[in-house]
Amino acid sequence: MTTSAITILRATVSQVTCRTPDGESVIDWDTLHAAAKQDDAQLRAVYAAALKDATHLLRRTEQARVDASVTACSGHRADKIETRGYTGSVAVAPYTEENRSAAGNICDLETCRCGAKRSVNRNGRHEELGVWLAPTTEVE
Ligand SMILES: [Zn+2]
Repeated sequence: MTTSAITILRATVSQVTCRTPDGESVIDWDTLHAAAKQDDAQLRAVYAAALKDATHLLRRTEQARVDASVTACSGHRADKIETRGYTGSVAVAPYTEENRSAAGNICDLETCRCGAKRSVNRNGRHEELGVWLAPTTEVE
């Protein structure tokens, strides 16, 4: 076994910093994706593992950034509202209560400046609140 594993040191949305037997290098995601699909089976396995590690690190890093931002927010407020159709109760016991009068019309997905989101069912003057949550990072 002559192939050495690649250690991922940092991963950002644009590039990945890794340590290889030749030293530290910074590569972009396209290069890493291409390397993980190359013809050489041995190198392909090494880079596929590196791609997986880098993707996980990016997710963890991004989730930590989002969580820190949401935690630091002094009070969530709807900065952006996306209106959707009602799909069901959004109340989260024991934090918020179900309100059947708010059912059956629309559901607003509210986003705070910090990134936190919550759903609110609205029907006329009635509303049923969800709870503010940090969104889950999805990178693929
Ligand atoms: Zn907030």
